[in-house]
Amino acid sequence: MNSNEIEIHKELKKYFGFSQFKGLQEQVITSILDEKNTFVIMPTGGGKSLCYQLPALIQDGTAIVVSPLIALMKNQVDAIRSLSSENGIAHVLNSSLTKTEIAQVKKDITSGLTKLLYVAPESLTKEEYVSFLQSVPISFVAIDEAHCISEWGHDFRPEYRNLRNIIKQLGKVSIIGLTATATPKVQEDILKNLDMSDANTFKASFNRPNLYYEVRTKTKSIESDIIRFIKQHKGKSGIIYCLSRKKVESIAEVLQVNGISAVPYHAGLDAKTRAKHQDMFLMEDVDVVVATIAFGMGIDKPDVRFVIHHDIPKSLESYYQETGRAGRDGGEGHCLAYYSYKDVEKLEKFMSGKPVAEQEIGFALLQEVVAYAETSMSRRKFLLHYFGEEFDSENGEGADMDDNVRNPKSKIEAKDEAVR
Ligand code: ADP
Ligand code: MG
Repeated sequence: MNSNEIEIHKELKKYFGFSQFKGLQEQVITSILDEKNTFVIMPTGGGKSLCYQLPALIQDGTAIVVSPLIALMKNQVDAIRSLSSENGIAHVLNSSLTKTEIAQVKKDITSGLTKLLYVAPESLTKEEYVSFLQSVPISFVAIDEAHCISEWGHDFRPEYRNLRNIIKQLGKVSIIGLTATATPKVQEDILKNLDMSDANTFKASFNRPNLYYEVRTKTKSIESDIIRFIKQHKGKSGIIYCLSRKKVESIAEVLQVNGISAVPYHAGLDAKTRAKHQDMFLMEDVDVVVATIAFGMGIDKPDVRFVIHHDIPKSLESYYQETGRAGRDGGEGHCLAYYSYKDVEKLEKFMSGKPVAEQEIGFALLQEVVAYAETSMSRRKFLLHYFGEEFDSENGEGADMDDNVRNPKSKIEAKDEAVR
């Protein structure tokens, strides 16, 4: 260890209380401290925030952190503040602040107190803020959830496309892009749009060896099939994803009638009910939450034992994120998806109202889901290949953890199923 390494280990302990870096964190931090453009691709829960928080805390000047969700920014600011005796160490700059609050933020930045300034991309476009930020020392700009810049990502936000121009106006600052989206297409888009082909890139493995992947053909008996599955996992926590609110309601009801403790969750429920159902799940007052994709962002329940897709997701990216909520603690995590080509057609029909460019992307992403559902090869290998990762299906970690590997179907049988 050279003195620099000792230094950042000491800072890690001092600020966060951790004695070790996780995965690639140390390399990433070194790259940032060297003022290099840096690109970080790590799965959710990989510890991306610390990659920019620690260098921000130990460098001079203020780091700007762009993040798409106000709630996420607030959480992070609270977390950073709890590490320090100074409230001004981290701030959010957004449209909800009063004039007095804005003045305080500016004062703390100017005095050098503020190490992390969280901004929403739309706030950063404000002339007033840009000219202020030009006048103060900026350590670097971190762009969290950087996939929002790409139409191939699952959460495209046009405001992200302006970021490069605004950052250019701030003078020579390095950029740190971070994402949990691992598809090569999205990565290319990020590097291109941020004009940082020179970036040091750090990509962690996306393999989740403790997750078991299974796809079943969707038939009329899906409900009794799900009930049987849940009863085999009695008392365990699980999530069931459905495409529509209506389906969420009806499945939740069917489960309840069959003596399974389940609650619905979707954006059509009022905020109070949603919060209540989420808490019930987190506190283990219920075993199962039946939900649309509105459920799960930022949910960190470590012992979710199964994730069921009643309907196929619209991309493998979503599938990976949603199944990824199982087995966070490293324990069992059964990922069961029901597949029928009818559902694919339904999704295609949904998309047909959208602009052509969006449709094309949507269809292409969906075709990957179809290929995954119909494949007879190792699902883990397929999934990781989609993320640009080569998986050794003989000896790789978790190699035998899917239905295709456990019960190989003959090629013909698999094709039969696809035709059916
Ligand atoms: P991501 O943004 O990649 O999804 P987060 O930054 O939210 O992940 O971090 C996930 C969790 O990992 C947090 O609870 C965080 O405190 C924890 N964590 C991060 N770095 C370390 C570390 N070096 N040692 C232990 N825990 C860590
Ligand atoms: Mg994050």
